[in-house]
Amino acid sequence: MSPINRASKIASSMAAKSEKRSTNKMQVPIVELSECIVCGVCVETCPQVFRLNDAGYIEVIELAVYPESDVNDAIKYCPVDCIHWDTQSV
Ligand code: SF4
Repeated sequence: MSPINRASKIASSMAAKSEKRSTNKMQVPIVELSECIVCGVCVETCPQVFRLNDAGYIEVIELAVYPESDVNDAIKYCPVDCIHWDTQSV
């Protein structure tokens, strides 16, 4: 086995082990910034999750648990449908 193939195999094995360790999943809201028109509706609807940062972009505040109902309202009222849920490992 060449050194490159061996390194690749080791990296794959490490990634698989890392994936096995993080088995807890959580739902996190995501804003597609390329589509966001910065209308502010999500911030008004759900300020505990969405905020306008200093650079002028909407960002999702890091929380341990996201309020599902409030985020779903922001998703519903976003005029360009650029907010969605994503499942992430924790
Ligand atoms: S509601 Fe949608 S378009 Fe408006 S600021 Fe929030 S993410 Fe952007």
